[in-house]
Amino acid sequence: MTILLKGGRIFLGRKFVTADVLLKGGSAFVFDKGAAPDEMTALCSAAPDIENAGCGDVFGTDTDAEVIDLSGKDILPGFADVHVHFREPGFSYKETIRTGSLAAAHGGYTCVCPMPNIVPVPKDLDSLRAELDIINKTSLLDVIPYGAITVKQDGRSELSDMESMAPYVCAFSDDGRGIQTGDLMRDAMQLAGSLGKLIVAHCEDESLLQPGGCVHEGLFAEASGLIGISSASEWRQVERDVNLCYETGCAYHVCHVSTKESVQIIREAKQSGVNVTCETAPHYLTLTQDDVAEYCRGGEPADSGRFKMNPPLRGKDDREALREGVFDGTIDMIATDHAPHSAEEKARGLEKSPFGITGLETSFPILKTRLVETGILTYERLIECLASAPRKRFGLPGAETLDHGSFRAVYSEDAGGGCEGNVGYKEAVRGNRMIFPDLTIIDPEYEYTIDPDDFLSMGHATPFEGDTVRGKVIMTIHKGKIAYEGCDNDPRAQDRN
Ligand SMILES: [Zn+2]
Repeated sequence: MTILLKGGRIFLGRKFVTADVLLKGGSAFVFDKGAAPDEMTALCSAAPDIENAGCGDVFGTDTDAEVIDLSGKDILPGFADVHVHFREPGFSYKETIRTGSLAAAHGGYTCVCPMPNIVPVPKDLDSLRAELDIINKTSLLDVIPYGAITVKQDGRSELSDMESMAPYVCAFSDDGRGIQTGDLMRDAMQLAGSLGKLIVAHCEDESLLQPGGCVHEGLFAEASGLIGISSASEWRQVERDVNLCYETGCAYHVCHVSTKESVQIIREAKQSGVNVTCETAPHYLTLTQDDVAEYCRGGEPADSGRFKMNPPLRGKDDREALREGVFDGTIDMIATDHAPHSAEEKARGLEKSPFGITGLETSFPILKTRLVETGILTYERLIECLASAPRKRFGLPGAETLDHGSFRAVYSEDAGGGCEGNVGYKEAVRGNRMIFPDLTIIDPEYEYTIDPDDFLSMGHATPFEGDTVRGKVIMTIHKGKIAYEGCDNDPRAQDRN
């Protein structure tokens, strides 16, 4: 299948330029807008061997060829999410790797990293194989799992067999649980560091928790009588870990930062040269405990569980600090913590429903609408947080060919790499100027209302239900092939590969 994406606005060399993109043989090539027709005509008549390079296809002599008009649309690097829960093996009634990857494609993601809170826990190569087999058979995209830090993924048991898993995992994490002692974390960092792998930490000191905590320990908890989860339960462990990170030299990444204290600790650690990065999630950047309070005003609705996640939605000052952190680079990337559960589980209210909301299919429109359209964040910085920063830090596909969120030129052996301009069709089809072949196509003006019935995830609980947003993922291309293509009001992932 050869596809010509015509007239889109591509984020290339840190600026948006209008150019055409040719998808062929699993690769993507960029060239000057309008260069195609003339050059191709000339090339085809002059050189029969050019047909081998595909220009016959593009002209439509091949029934497999397709031209897609992307005028007014944005072509961004495929998003990557380093924090998702795909629940398989073990909990396939909540989500499967298949449905999770469909949801990812629908949300504009081409690479996702599922956390290890599954059964069996990926604690060695044998147990990891159970997950890898399902990924190989059913995933639509790059799905690169985590290995667990401890054998029970409980933050307390002995260290897993990281060495055997290292070649197959993106990093190690016990996400869902904090590592409860400094000694265990030091051992984990030393082992992961020796393997050249990241330790990725869900920071939560269980000695600072009260049983039954379900919302932020703050005004809403006080007013409602619900048990709160303190900010200190997060930031104290962040503080401990950045010191251990400095001591061991291990590369360290903090999951879903939610408190202002954590942001400041990480900011200072970075200034002193600690090898630490972190993520936050769209809901912490856009919502606070006030939104839960508002939703529960006059009596808690049965579906209030769609505001329940761990860490919880915190205060306004925390949200402001997180925004500042994304702005100044203290927070490196935005991950969704996509954590689907069944409808029945999430209908048990704030106290009894499990922690976690879906996130893959709402992140881009929510962040663009609430942060970019309001002038809080630049579009370019958002793209960096969603696409290139996670790929670079975790060594995911595209790490080498993306730069500050933009496609890094296009490279060529002749030019020695680094070229950031467009080229003619001739060079493009010869493969002299390739770009990263994972693309997320956005209709930046498209307005719609978030409706969980449109989700491809099995999880439907989201605090953003009913929100009006502007900016829609209309196509997701993975390795040069269409993984998702949406019609106006009929989003549907298509397995066209
Ligand atoms: Zn977590």
